[in-house]
Amino acid sequence: MALSRVVGPLLGVRPRRVDPGGGGAPRVPHPASAVVVGGGIAGMSAAVVLAERGVRVTVLEAAATLGGRLGAWPETLADGVQQVEHGFHAFFRQYYNWRSVLRRIDPGLGFLRPVPGYPILSARWPTEEFGDLPAAPPLNLLALLARSPSLRLRDLRGMDRNAALPLLSYHPVRTYAELDETTADELLDSLRLPDRARAMLFEVFSHSFFNHEAEMSAAEMVAQFHFYLLGNGEGLAFDAPDEDYATAIWTPLTRHVERHGGRVVTGAAATAVHRAGDGWRVVTGDGTAYDARHVVLAVDPPALAALVGASAELAEHAPRLVARMPAFGTPGPPYAVARYWLDGDVRPDRAVFSGVSRQPTLDSVTLYHRLEREPRHWAQRTGGSVLELHAYACEPGVPATELAERMRAELTTLWPEVAGLRVRQLSTRVAAQAPAFPPGSSAWRPGVRTDADGLYLAGDGIAAGFPSALMERSAATGVIAANHILRAEGGAAEPVHSVRPRGLLAKRD
Ligand SMILES: Cc1cc2nc3c(=O)[nH]c(=O)nc-3n(C[C@H](O)[C@H](O)[C@H](O)COP(=O)(O)OP(=O)(O)OC[C@H]3O[C@@H](n4cnc5c(N)ncnc54)[C@H](O)[C@@H]3O)c2cc1C
Repeated sequence: MALSRVVGPLLGVRPRRVDPGGGGAPRVPHPASAVVVGGGIAGMSAAVVLAERGVRVTVLEAAATLGGRLGAWPETLADGVQQVEHGFHAFFRQYYNWRSVLRRIDPGLGFLRPVPGYPILSARWPTEEFGDLPAAPPLNLLALLARSPSLRLRDLRGMDRNAALPLLSYHPVRTYAELDETTADELLDSLRLPDRARAMLFEVFSHSFFNHEAEMSAAEMVAQFHFYLLGNGEGLAFDAPDEDYATAIWTPLTRHVERHGGRVVTGAAATAVHRAGDGWRVVTGDGTAYDARHVVLAVDPPALAALVGASAELAEHAPRLVARMPAFGTPGPPYAVARYWLDGDVRPDRAVFSGVSRQPTLDSVTLYHRLEREPRHWAQRTGGSVLELHAYACEPGVPATELAERMRAELTTLWPEVAGLRVRQLSTRVAAQAPAFPPGSSAWRPGVRTDADGLYLAGDGIAAGFPSALMERSAATGVIAANHILRAEGGAAEPVHSVRPRGLLAKRD
């Protein structure tokens, strides 16, 4: 760990400012307004920054609760009401922009607790542990190669080292020019990795992006490998809230926005966006109109395509945005989440979070009763346990309850004690809302700025211009959208940070 702290900065793996921020007044010098459509991470990150600078911001969220894919809501169970989440989330330490937004509600980020370990489970091979690798590259990669039972010296000799070079040479332009038409599968094939190393080290990783390797751009996989493993000095360890996400994040963030004069309206689904003077009018399902000079559309890809499609005037004002929607609005494969309340516990040595390799459905297991306060109390009271099972890219058209049952059956092959535990409750869902990253998608992926003045996009499918993914990309694009608005209105912009923008072996321009 200590060596990591020295080597990381020497190799330049420290946070970089990709936007220094500033350049305007602490509060916008004249009245300015914005409507943000979508109250997930992207929309609320934009709203936080805009409200703090004095922009009159209104967030419109279609659902009854905030958070989108990081949402939480109360659910009535047989023995009382509990908060249930859309799904467990790992808060990695290189999520610099998301953490900066979260520091508004907890400057020390005390609500985030380290999650010990990051094992990968397999029915075929022994468990592989990722959580205790050194934090900084290349020490983390060297340690992985030296100690992973999945990769022996003779395997390394058999690998195609030239094919492995792109993994170490991420470049924001060249990587996409060279690899965006290739699939992640083809890139992994070309490495000639032994099957075990491929399953335990790479496939779990690419599944975590809600895309199948055979349908995902190799350039995106290289970018994610860089973002998570090789481009930051923070390591693969992560944290998670010790309270449900509504209590820990969404209630205090809403209060923060409101304290700065912003408004957050839930149950308000935007149905169309119109031009109104030199600004925009957003209309919601009940016919209410919200006028503002600027609009940020911070919704998931299918919702964005639907909203753009229902806004006929955008064909004139934002033709490039409209043209990109058929491809962009097609989400990745469905994902499934099943939270089980069981009548007994799993073995005490089971990790709080485990990745799973090569099961047909199951991709991860989280022990909620060892993580968050409410499930912990429930388990103490009842002697039971609360397990959440995820499938990140599953078979389409299968009902949620069937997927839940498949995941539980697959877990029993890994943790036999689960077979003896009776199910008391189940809360499950299946959805397809994650962005797809198919080969060639960098050509049509929209960025934050659209071709219409005052209309911006944010979300985990929107190009940020620097390596980022998932929650961090949502927060970063939300802040970038807010910065465009602040610069247009004379307000000081927010600094934006990135991991090292290029791979350790990327050639200089
Ligand atoms: C099961 C699961 C596990 C995950 N685990 C991780 C993890 O471990 N680490 C990580 O970094 N990321 C993880 N993610 C990904 C992460 O949740 C997303 O990247 C992130 O939450 C996306 O935020 P967003 O604001 O871009 O979009 P969303 O969260 O989708 O928010 C969009 C919001 O827009 C609203 N909306 C849609 N249409 C309209 C409309 N017409 N009008 C008004 N509102 C509308 C939606 O209701 C939603 O609230 C996980 C996702 C899932 C599903």
